[in-house]
Amino acid sequence: MAPSAQASPAPAPAPFGTTPPGVPIIDLRSDTVTRPTPAMRAAMMSAPLGDDVLGDDPTVRELEARVCQIMGKEAACFVPTGTMANQVAIRSHTEPGDELIAHEDSHIIHYETGAPAALSGVMIRVVRGEMGMFDEAAVRRSVRHPSDHDPRSRLLVIENTHNRAGGVVWPLDRFRAVTAAARERGLSVHMDGARIWNACAASGVPASEYASCVDSLSCCFSKGLGAPVGSAVAGSAPFIARVRRFRKMFGGGMRQSGVLAAAAIYALDHHRERLTQDHANATLIGGALANVKGLSIASAIQTNMVFVNLAGSLPGAADFCHRLRERGVLALDSSENQIRLVTHLDVSRAQCERAADIIASVASSFQS
Ligand SMILES: *Cc1c(COP(=O)(O)O)cnc(C)c1O
Repeated sequence: MAPSAQASPAPAPAPFGTTPPGVPIIDLRSDTVTRPTPAMRAAMMSAPLGDDVLGDDPTVRELEARVCQIMGKEAACFVPTGTMANQVAIRSHTEPGDELIAHEDSHIIHYETGAPAALSGVMIRVVRGEMGMFDEAAVRRSVRHPSDHDPRSRLLVIENTHNRAGGVVWPLDRFRAVTAAARERGLSVHMDGARIWNACAASGVPASEYASCVDSLSCCFSKGLGAPVGSAVAGSAPFIARVRRFRKMFGGGMRQSGVLAAAAIYALDHHRERLTQDHANATLIGGALANVKGLSIASAIQTNMVFVNLAGSLPGAADFCHRLRERGVLALDSSENQIRLVTHLDVSRAQCERAADIIASVASSFQS
């Protein structure tokens, strides 16, 4: 039949920044995008359950015991998110009007919706330093002397790996020195260990070594470890008793949460060692992009995060991410002219190679 005026019109082009149908997606926005594997789902399906608010979910108890054992802490508490883990810890360590000390690029400052102020009524005094780290002198300078006028310095929060700095691992000796300085001055110390598993996989330092330097820590199962939901807080028994109370207050008391804890236990058993593959894949992407005109790697790649600076000759980061998305690569714009790529369980080495090729080709299309 000859084409006629009745022939269906050509489909409208997809709007700018969408992936056309059929183009495979490589999602490098975050290590939170992983879907539970079939074996993890099977573990969730068969987990014995109870009511965790009433204290009798056996799978949650098992997970909490596992966290205690790995971290060398007395008690642990399963919570829905990394944000809640940090915030119940901050609330449990402080009283309103207290001050906590943290690096200016901390997750608790930038990505937790102002929760330390909103939920705990605490002030934050920032310290500065290269790559998300700081030294003992910075801690000592920041601790206030007791007085009727000053806020009370109460807590140091230290992030490992450090997210905004690019997944940076604190060297153990430096971590020891800084946390010891804080504790000598009477501060409690909390480690935001959302990616502590990456720090341990990269450095070979057992988590318990970092944990032994701090009063409390958070760790996350839904990032590199690939569980769908969940974090934990660990510390002394009296501290965790307080954490449980604030978990309930903040709305984080869950009932048959063993179904989620089962995924976390599976992740601890099966997905920790493989993190080094994610790190190798991040290094691969960084290596492939380092010499592409217009791109530069923002910081040395130590774990699974790659921050890439875009030269002025390229579009801004948001625009650049739209162009990547059209080719099937999903990335986040971490600033006006920087993009963030994170490797994880659901991207293979081949996909990372392909993603790097696509990013390089999009960048090159702007160079004359
Ligand atoms: C992701 C992250 C958190 C918070 O985790 P959510 O589960 O997203 O609330 C806390 N700290 C650091 C360093 C993180 O990267």
